[in-house]
Amino acid sequence: SDVFENLTDKITDVFSRLGNKGRLTESDVDQALREIRLALLDADVHFRVARSLVTKIKEKVMVGDVLASLTAAQYVASVTNEELVSVLGGTTVSLKEGTYKPSTILMVGLNGSGKTTSSAKLAHYLSQAGQLCNLVAADVHRPAAIEQLETLGEQIEVDVYQNGRDHSAAKIAVEGLDRGRSLRTSWTIVDTAGRFQVNEELMAELEDIKNATMPQEVLLVVDAMTGQEAVNVAEVFHERIGLTGLVLTKMDGDARGGAALSITSVTGIPVKFIGTSERVDGLEQFHPDRLASRILGMGDVLTLVERAKATFEEDKIQQLEKKFLKATFDLEDFLDQMQAVKKMGPMNQMLEMIPGFSAIKGKVNTEGLDGSHLVKAEAIIQSMTKEERQRPELIGGNRRKRISKGSGTSPQDVNQLLNQFKQVRKMMKDMASPGGQKKLLNMMSQQKKGPFGF
Ligand code: GDP
Repeated sequence: SDVFENLTDKITDVFSRLGNKGRLTESDVDQALREIRLALLDADVHFRVARSLVTKIKEKVMVGDVLASLTAAQYVASVTNEELVSVLGGTTVSLKEGTYKPSTILMVGLNGSGKTTSSAKLAHYLSQAGQLCNLVAADVHRPAAIEQLETLGEQIEVDVYQNGRDHSAAKIAVEGLDRGRSLRTSWTIVDTAGRFQVNEELMAELEDIKNATMPQEVLLVVDAMTGQEAVNVAEVFHERIGLTGLVLTKMDGDARGGAALSITSVTGIPVKFIGTSERVDGLEQFHPDRLASRILGMGDVLTLVERAKATFEEDKIQQLEKKFLKATFDLEDFLDQMQAVKKMGPMNQMLEMIPGFSAIKGKVNTEGLDGSHLVKAEAIIQSMTKEERQRPELIGGNRRKRISKGSGTSPQDVNQLLNQFKQVRKMMKDMASPGGQKKLLNMMSQQKKGPFGF
């Protein structure tokens, strides 16, 4: 589930009813837009943003003979998508690098927003992209903040500079920047202090740090679950210290996520990253077009593919590809693949990103997709000898009994896994056969179409 689940359900519903009508009348459109506006308000989208969104959709839909065409509903959906992308900021905005290294990023925000966690996540994100980073613990007010950052830094193998709590935050930040220079990092990420609410003391301290470090980026970390309050906080911070971007955290929560949708329209500040879990790898670059299609139930294949790429190491992918083509894929590879899938995140979260999934949700049984079947399969394969993994056809009655005992499963479970594996292998053989890849491509191009047929 994510913060947009309800919204997605409602909007998908509006469009599928519209889609059943074929040609539309103006009153059909008005009805649909009224429902969309209510769904947005329900999701806590700012009322001005919701109103202007539907007004723009209506304007675009009411030109020419659009409504008379057989694909009118598709057109309305695609215009809605366009307008939603534009509300979300239009295009992806990346971090700005300075002329001299390291470029400095100030992380600011209220206590509890996820600032310290996001600082470490961002360092991890940039390191993974091959850019050297260092972190600076300049939160001298929250007692545990320094230790928290040090622990995270150790975990992600990024240098953390600190100088206790007795110096000014601005002094520590400058020292941390020096540290980055001597380590030749590309980015110095400064975790600053927060407060429980916006106040003068906090703003003055942040201004000092900003003047002392001349950062390329000032990122405000806001908790997506705090609703409209997040929008207000962003406005105040922006007015006082000037922001270059936002990090929306806790997008994996189940609160209404509409504030997140309106924050850029209201404040003019782009969202650069979103936090999607408590884990240190739970940070993603924000792409307005991808979120829009996720909200509209059109899935987010690109993010899915990226996660898969980040999880599998490149040479492993190539190895697997070769094995796929030669159909020499064995249970050992099967195990590798399952472990990689597990690392990609909760299965349910991944399913949400598959195009069309939200439209069929409720019609398919997603029980058991919590990873428990993977745990079982893993245990079974781990109880096999190397030879058995490579040549599963060796497994007869006795071996099956031994394996099920060893893995704490039943012989039927072992059978089921072996059958499943046989199917996968057969599919691969088919694919490797002449014309097989073309068949697969055809299949995929059909699947690419979302519930609205685009
Ligand atoms: P700070 O006071 O702003 O530095 O906040 P912390 O970084 O200590 O985070 C506060 C809490 O929010 C911690 O328990 C984090 O694990 C949690 N948190 C931060 N970002 C996310 C996120 O994207 N998703 C979830 N589920 N939890 C998060």
